[in-house]
Amino acid sequence: MADTRHTKVLIIGSGPAGYTAGVYASRAMLEPILVQGMEPGGQLTTTTDVENWPGHSEIQGPDLMINMETHSRAMGTEIISDLITSLDMTKRPFTAQSDSGTVYTADAVILATGARAKWLGLESEEKFKGFGVSACATCDGFFYRGQEIVVIGGGNTAVEEALFLTNFASKVTLIHRRDELRSEKILEDRLMKNEKITPLWFHELVEVVGDENPLGVTAVRAKHVETGEITEIPCKGVFVAIGHAPANELVKDTLETHMGGYVKTAPDSTATSIPGIFAAGDLTDHKYRQAVTSAGMGCMAALEAERFLAELGDGTE
Ligand SMILES: Cc1cc2nc3c(=O)[nH]c(=O)nc-3n(C[C@H](O)[C@H](O)[C@H](O)COP(=O)(O)OP(=O)(O)OC[C@H]3O[C@@H](n4cnc5c(N)ncnc54)[C@H](O)[C@@H]3O)c2cc1C
Repeated sequence: MADTRHTKVLIIGSGPAGYTAGVYASRAMLEPILVQGMEPGGQLTTTTDVENWPGHSEIQGPDLMINMETHSRAMGTEIISDLITSLDMTKRPFTAQSDSGTVYTADAVILATGARAKWLGLESEEKFKGFGVSACATCDGFFYRGQEIVVIGGGNTAVEEALFLTNFASKVTLIHRRDELRSEKILEDRLMKNEKITPLWFHELVEVVGDENPLGVTAVRAKHVETGEITEIPCKGVFVAIGHAPANELVKDTLETHMGGYVKTAPDSTATSIPGIFAAGDLTDHKYRQAVTSAGMGCMAALEAERFLAELGDGTE
């Protein structure tokens, strides 16, 4: 028979939102269980320097996440290496099935499953991720002061990232497969008027080129989609801006979502469309997508779960 574990608060996800929720829920004596998922530590474990986490002018992403895990555990969070495969939210206690076979039941659930940047899937892109290839201008733009940069994409994300990167870069080349953008008109106007930005139409990225020692980008190769001609563009940074996908597989058919699948929460709250289910971090956030904002939402979710459970009292509605 499957092992069943009951908890007052089940936290699903081990990024900044999940670990912070663990700290707050533990300090509220809720004895939370946190299930880490396939990527313990979340997205920041895939990057190198993080320079915008308050309290550290510079820290490696994986180190920051180990610190958060240690902190959450020290406060009393039970952290389990497992993957939630389905979540029944139709009645309380909520029931989560897991990959290990353990069934978790919970009076409240904090969803902190994050999001994934969409990538092109090139081998060279993978090789230079964190060493010149990024999917987050807010996170990494600062590293490219006075350098030449390439942005890939043609939607709102790409145009916004290209405009933002002109604050740092000497030149930004926007590579897009068509000759028109899919962004809002106002953003397109700003892009076209910006002297630092040069669009390269009808091209797609085929290779990121760089040095081995130290690992770093020196150029990209882009192919004309009609003629096949290859153009090499010197650059130090490559920003892939073809969108993000929230990790909403567990809840996309049950909870209200918006903006392409991000879980919808009540204004100024982490409450979802089902009482007792809270959502925090990139899973709900199509706008900021930062570690610090995710952590902030993790804090809110734990405080809201605590209030929800207190109001529930003896377990009746
Ligand atoms: C390359 C890169 C560099 C970045 N640099 C910075 C930076 O410098 N500064 C900054 O502030 N932000 C940065 N970000 C953004 C930042 O990483 C995210 O905003 C933040 O990690 C989101 O936190 P989160 O807790 O919402 O989720 P995530 O970090 O996305 O973590 C999601 C967690 O959910 C778990 N999970 C998913 N599905 C399941 C499941 N079914 N069962 C159990 N667990 C599950 C995963 O295993 C993972 O642990 C960067 C992102 C990337 C990709």
